[in-house]
Amino acid sequence: MKKNADLFVLNAKQLIRYSDSKGDSLEVLENGALAIKDGRILAIGDTEEIRGAFALDEGVVVDASGKVVVPGFVDCHTHLVFAGSRVDEYSGRIQGWTSEEFKKRGIKTGIMATVDVTRNATKEGLFDQSSDRLKNMILAGTTTVESKSGYGLSLESELAMLEVNLMLREAFPVRVVSTFLGAHGWPEDIPKKSYMELLKKEMIPAVAERELADFCDIWCDDGHYTAEECREILEAGLSHGLRPKIHTGAYSYIGGADLAGEMSMVSADHLNYTPRAALKKLAMADVVGVLLPGIDFAVDHPRPFDPGPMVEEGLSLALATNCCPGCWCESMHFIMSLACRRHSLSPVMALKAATLGGAMALGLDDEVGSIEVGKVADLQIWGVSRFEDVVYRLGGNVVDKVIKDGRVIVDRGILL
Ligand SMILES: [Zn+2]
Repeated sequence: MKKNADLFVLNAKQLIRYSDSKGDSLEVLENGALAIKDGRILAIGDTEEIRGAFALDEGVVVDASGKVVVPGFVDCHTHLVFAGSRVDEYSGRIQGWTSEEFKKRGIKTGIMATVDVTRNATKEGLFDQSSDRLKNMILAGTTTVESKSGYGLSLESELAMLEVNLMLREAFPVRVVSTFLGAHGWPEDIPKKSYMELLKKEMIPAVAERELADFCDIWCDDGHYTAEECREILEAGLSHGLRPKIHTGAYSYIGGADLAGEMSMVSADHLNYTPRAALKKLAMADVVGVLLPGIDFAVDHPRPFDPGPMVEEGLSLALATNCCPGCWCESMHFIMSLACRRHSLSPVMALKAATLGGAMALGLDDEVGSIEVGKVADLQIWGVSRFEDVVYRLGGNVVDKVIKDGRVIVDRGILL
């Protein structure tokens, strides 16, 4: 008697499997196939095995002939929700404008420029603008996306950003993970210490009470929050059930990675200036290093992150778009291409970091990030014959289909 399932993927030229985010090995199943039931992967094998074991006419059959099947991307670090654009700033910086030149032209730059516009946007306006970006991410193979607040920097505006995360979660067929980043900076009209009190006493409790976020994040760098200030804020978050994450070492080394190790954070993100001793601490504490090649490219970073020592120290790595007004990137393909060519990650390591590594950085690796029996059926089918094509074919979109929770949600460039 043949078994039933809801959806089958058959005849894959390559079906890519791995159980570990580290290292340079993976399993390429040729003529690969999958059976999916109730949104989860029920069986993996070659096409003849799946044909022999299952009643194919009882389910939907997706033919992946000549194509590559990989896990859906897990984009674990984004600032998806914001209003407006900083294209004037970006094009000015490309031309080498100084801050005086921006001032002369009346162009406000940096996070505070986006805070101004975001605070003045309606929730519906924010939702519409963020929806366009999320749609592009899904069309490019992303099935799980983390989304941070941090352009409100007031109770009301930060809550509104997080509520937009929940609206996106309702409106789109992908998993949206919400992170409170009230400590992205502090408002221009409030001293940092007073804002920290507001964060601890009002904002964090309000976010937790309304169940608007899973994580609490902060920016630890010279000119931002010190490691001790980060500890205060993140411990306040933790006491309200928000797990800590940290932006650190992007432009200086002031101890954020050490703190991430001490607090056993789920991830430490950027790490450009993080010394080997601190990388070792991260690895020992199982903190995932989230690497953001998009921002290093967008700002033409003087010291791009170097995965070499991280790999040597045994750190688990993730890749993410860091989609934000300073790095408007919706494509994990592009991120993988950058990670390989500019930061010397191998295609295998980049693929693992963009999927299973991202899942680990969100504490979701039991559920998503790799093709394993029992895991959620979040998959992409690429219209290429080898997985390395994704880093080789620059700037395009190789996605033929996206499957989320066992359902086809993207078919030949159309979000269903
Ligand atoms: Zn960020």
